[in-house]
Amino acid sequence: MLKAMQILGSSSGFVSHRWRPHNSGGLSFISKSAKPLSSSSSSSSYSSCSRSPTASLLSPGFSARKSRCFRAFRMSAINSELNPDGTSSSSSSTSFQSTGNTRKINFCQWCGGQTKHEIPDGEEKIRAICTICGRIAYQNPKMVVGCLIEHDNKVLLCKRKIEPSYGLWTLPAGYMEIGESAAEGAIRETWEEAGAEVEVLSPFAQLDIPLIGQTYIIFLAKLKKPQFSPGPESLECRLYDFDDIPFDSLAFSSILVTLKLYVEDMKAAGRPKFHYGTINKRPGSKPSDIQAYTLDYHLQS
Ligand SMILES: [Zn+2]
Repeated sequence: MLKAMQILGSSSGFVSHRWRPHNSGGLSFISKSAKPLSSSSSSSSYSSCSRSPTASLLSPGFSARKSRCFRAFRMSAINSELNPDGTSSSSSSTSFQSTGNTRKINFCQWCGGQTKHEIPDGEEKIRAICTICGRIAYQNPKMVVGCLIEHDNKVLLCKRKIEPSYGLWTLPAGYMEIGESAAEGAIRETWEEAGAEVEVLSPFAQLDIPLIGQTYIIFLAKLKKPQFSPGPESLECRLYDFDDIPFDSLAFSSILVTLKLYVEDMKAAGRPKFHYGTINKRPGSKPSDIQAYTLDYHLQS
């Protein structure tokens, strides 16, 4: 923990506030401006602009299919830092967001036709557009849902049995599935990874990670029964006192942020707040360096 604080260089460790009053009276975030992207051609017309997943994108069945969980998450992180859209890995997260890994989409997911990469009329970002059916492959962030389980003034952590981050500790969490709510997904992931039946109590944190197109929603939860056991992706599950949380052996920045916020809340007021924030990876840092980030736009209630 000390190491993290020293690296991040603030007394609170990792929190910076960047909101300001909005002209209309509300609050708004200070946004980073994106570099405008040039287009080789924007004169074509496109037949579909659906931004939502369509039925053809859905899995045949929604039931009990194990999510790709953090395996895909980490691969996404790694890929994103290997210049997914031709930009430098040291560029800002905003420039990454401009195209995501659109240029890696070479074939249409609906008809199999070849795609071209252009800015559609009326839009600002490069998209993969099917040259046959004209549909546009929009890419949107994924939701990762999980539980921070409180029990006897301890929190439940799982030691990963899979790469990446094999042997490191995490909260039970994974990708939300189509057909379930965020809370349902968090409960499911907790059952799958920690063999624990939980009741969700309240939302604790929403953490956006723009660089890799992910949003975490972590719920506070309690055990329905005082029982848990490691699932297929966990080596071990264990309750940790606040002061014993293995901050030097956590798997992901998002988990580090979540647990540090939680411990800070508990030590300051004896109860957790709700937190919103954006985790921005430090330019040029390795995906495995989970302490190389800043928490921006941090709001709490
Ligand atoms: Zn097509």
